[in-house]
Amino acid sequence: MEYVSPEGLRLDGRRPMEMRQIRAEIGAVSRADGSAIFEMGNTKVVAAVYGPREVQNRSQQMSDQALIRCEYSMANFSTGDRKRKPKGDRRSTEISMVIRQTMEACIMTHLMPRSQIDIYVQVLQADGGTRSACINAATLALSDAGIPMCDLVTSCSAGYLNSTPLLDLNYVEDSAGGPDVTVGILPKLDKVTLLQMDSKLPIDIVENVMQLATEGCKAVANYIREILLENTKQLEYRRGV
Ligand code: UDP
Repeated sequence: MEYVSPEGLRLDGRRPMEMRQIRAEIGAVSRADGSAIFEMGNTKVVAAVYGPREVQNRSQQMSDQALIRCEYSMANFSTGDRKRKPKGDRRSTEISMVIRQTMEACIMTHLMPRSQIDIYVQVLQADGGTRSACINAATLALSDAGIPMCDLVTSCSAGYLNSTPLLDLNYVEDSAGGPDVTVGILPKLDKVTLLQMDSKLPIDIVENVMQLATEGCKAVANYIREILLENTKQLEYRRGV
């Protein structure tokens, strides 16, 4: 199948190096200590953070750092009839672990010993790239909760179809069977915290595709900074500062 037309356009009209439209909103779950909604095109996720709070299972308490827990799930209505199990399946368990490890790279856990931080991410609408959207939402929710972080962690994916590197794959492109590389970065520290790839990719292409995904992560980071700045301004305005 042709995923890039002779004119260089993808099925949804994007250019190969174009990301889907992103949108974020802070404070979607007022009961949580921090929360956010993050959208990448038709993929929409919500993140809620609770903590730092007392460790529920005392045997897991650590005297020198905080315990980070993460739960990823997909709402039953998130994907027409494609969804098999809403949570508790192997894919959700793996993605929960991947997101937890990625977020651990930016949270200053040593500042919150003997405590626990819970990150819940739920996919409301799935159209490819849900793990990236969840990481971006979690970053915003953690910032909203005032959790100390050494940098913002942001994520984006890229793939390779019809001999063309493509940024931010949607479901149709993702399910084409080509490689899908998901990258997570700490933009200020210039470090990679997540790199996942399904299917094979020639070694000389890997760098191109990874570079493209990294550019996507940087664009997300710029957007997230804008949203956080806007949110801080609004808070100051409400407080009358
Ligand atoms: N998907 C689905 N049902 C499932 C799992 C995945 O419809 O049970 C779709 C969903 O749109 C998801 C995409 O397949 O975004 C790609 O899933 P993948 O496991 O590659 O993770 P993602 O790209 O979402 O991080």
